[in-house]
Amino acid sequence: KSWERCEKAGVEIEHVEGARLAELQPGLSPRLVRGVFLPQWKTVSDPRDYALALLEAAEARGVRLVEGAVSQLAQGTEGVTVAFEDGRKLEAGHAVLAAGPWSNRLTATLGERMPVTPERGYNTTLPLGSFDLKRQVIFPAHGFVVTPLATGIRVGGASELAGFDAPVNYKRARHMLDKAAGFLPGLKREGGTEWMGSRPSMPDSLPVIGRASSSPRILYAFGHGHLGLTQSAATARLVTDLILERNPPIDISPFRPGRF
Ligand SMILES: Cc1cc2nc3c(=O)[nH]c(=O)nc-3n(C[C@H](O)[C@H](O)[C@H](O)COP(=O)(O)OP(=O)(O)OC[C@H]3O[C@@H](n4cnc5c(N)ncnc54)[C@H](O)[C@@H]3O)c2cc1C
Repeated sequence: KSWERCEKAGVEIEHVEGARLAELQPGLSPRLVRGVFLPQWKTVSDPRDYALALLEAAEARGVRLVEGAVSQLAQGTEGVTVAFEDGRKLEAGHAVLAAGPWSNRLTATLGERMPVTPERGYNTTLPLGSFDLKRQVIFPAHGFVVTPLATGIRVGGASELAGFDAPVNYKRARHMLDKAAGFLPGLKREGGTEWMGSRPSMPDSLPVIGRASSSPRILYAFGHGHLGLTQSAATARLVTDLILERNPPIDISPFRPGRF
C-alpha cells in the first residue's frame, strides 16, 4: 500500500528480485530474495560535508556565525533578544529556534512546553573498502541502513528513548553490525568508529514549524526526528516564507507549534 502511495506521488519504484537484485547490489546474502529499488533515491557524501557546505554558502551570502550557548529568548519592543550563558546579548529582527532535541529548554524560556524528546541512534562507520557497496541499502524491518559515504561505509539506525543522560550503549551499534554482516556476508567489520546521536523526535513524528505563541518574531524549526537532514532545505524555505510574510507553497498547519 505505501509503495502504491509513493508511485501515485510520482516516486519511481522498481520491485526487484533474482539477477536484477544481484546486479543492483552484488554480495547480498541469498536469504534476501526481493527488494524495492528507488532510482531517484539520493544520499549525501557525508552529513558533515553537507553542514559545512551550508555554512559556506550562508557565509558567502553575508551570514555571520556567532557561537555560544543560548540561555534565553525574549520578545523585545522592536525584535528579539537572544541571551547567552556567558552574559552576551544579541538583538535581532527575528530569531529561528532550531536547537534540535534541546529546543524545549528554550521554548520554556518563552513559557511554552514542547514535547520534543531525544531519540538516540547509533552507527558504526567502517573504513572505505569494507564492502563493495553500490548504493544505500535499507533494511526497514530490521531498523538499520548501510550507507556509502566519502569517508567509509556507515551501518546505522536504532531507536533508544533514554533521555540525555543515560550511559551510551554501543551494544546497539554492534548488534546492527552483526545483522549487516549477516545480510552482506563479505562485509569486513573491523576498524569501525562507533557513534551515538540524538534525534529531535516528536510524539506525532512531525516537525514543529511556525511562530512562537508569545512572539511572531520567533520561529520554531525543530522536531524533525529521523528526517532532519532530508527535510532541512524544505524547512528553511518554509521558515523564510514565514519571516518574509509570504504564503508557504504547502499547508503547514500540521506542523503548527500549538497542536499539543
Ligand atoms: C543515527 C542517526 C541517523 C540519522 N540518519 C538520518 C538520515 O539518514 N536522514 C535524515 O534526514 N536524518 C537523519 N537523522 C536525523 C537528523 O540527524 C536530525 O533530524 C537532524 O540532525 C536535526 O537537525 P537540527 O538542526 O534540527 O538539530 P541538531 O542537529 O540536533 O542541531 C541542534 C543544534 O543546536 C545546538 N543547541 C542546542 N541547544 C542550544 C543552546 N541552548 N544554545 C546554542 N546552541 C544550542 C546543538 O548544539 C546543535 O548543534 C539521523 C539521526 C541519527 C541520530
